[in-house]
Amino acid sequence: MEHYDFRSGHPHAQPNFRNLVIRPMWITLKTALRTIPFVGRLPFLHNDYHNKRVNMADGFTERRVGSDHVSMKWADSDSYAADREATDVMPFVERPVTVMYPYERLEDLEPWLFVPGAYNGRIGIIWETCTACKACVRACPNDCLHMTTETRVNVLDTAKEGDEWHGYGSDIEVGGYAALPRSNNSDVENFDLINDHAAAPQEYDFAEVIDLTGSTATIKWPNGGGVENIPVTDLKPAEQDIVSGRIDIGRCMFCGLCAEACPFESFFMTNEYDGMSGYSRQDLWFDADRTRVLPSVHKERVDMELEKRAKKEKIKREKKAAKAAKASGA
Ligand code: SF4
Ligand code: SF4
Repeated sequence: MEHYDFRSGHPHAQPNFRNLVIRPMWITLKTALRTIPFVGRLPFLHNDYHNKRVNMADGFTERRVGSDHVSMKWADSDSYAADREATDVMPFVERPVTVMYPYERLEDLEPWLFVPGAYNGRIGIIWETCTACKACVRACPNDCLHMTTETRVNVLDTAKEGDEWHGYGSDIEVGGYAALPRSNNSDVENFDLINDHAAAPQEYDFAEVIDLTGSTATIKWPNGGGVENIPVTDLKPAEQDIVSGRIDIGRCMFCGLCAEACPFESFFMTNEYDGMSGYSRQDLWFDADRTRVLPSVHKERVDMELEKRAKKEKIKREKKAAKAAKASGA
């Protein structure tokens, strides 16, 4: 399996003494000093982003709220400072307000603040290792997690030719599915799990196997994509399987019980803390492709699972071969 350098989390600063104690104390002191008339205007109390333009409204927001909405007026202002606010009556009295999330993000503005590595954000499921055991669904106290059917390559079939655990998966069969690895993997390499807020890209193109002749498979692409003959060695067996990951994120409380319950290195809590809002309850229903995590993000854990299952399969095949040899000798 290829390993890509995925951005799988928000920027993390080191949890050291400076970042945990000195910086927060200094920020608190600065914030207090800023509220004092005249003193609060001293340059050393300003943050780098003070008085910078904040792009607070995109086209969709403008269409939704209308160009007369107050937030659109702010969006046109070059001088609006996200962290300070004054009144018309007493313009010298300034008070700090929070950063203008989601137009600004704290980790961009104050990089010494960080999202802890163990922070429970959106759920993330690796389809390749999911066994549809439903332990995660049963563990969810809010009943918001569901199983669904997806086309995927099983972890046992992801091992490459020459890898130690290659050959313990299934075979390509007529009537089944096959996966052709995409030659251009830039979508996968550039996918940013945390900030893209979109379904994870596919690493394969899937097709139905309609014939097998020697070492060539005839496959039928979906949606009228035609029929093609492809060497079997270029394909991986694929399956339509039940996997976890469909969720009503509006009911999720990010407790992580689902991830703890998963016995198959399949369920993770990501660091994603945004991209989980909408204008209706329906917007908060995420399909499984939106909560999918690609195997390369947790390569070590997926490799562990591959080894575990391949070893089991090896023992099973050896026992079967020994039994067959015994039967033929008798
Ligand atoms: S994090 Fe908690 S509430 Fe959310 S799906 Fe998992 S078990 Fe359910
Ligand atoms: S994610 Fe884990 S616990 Fe949930 S169904 Fe898949 S293997 Fe089972």
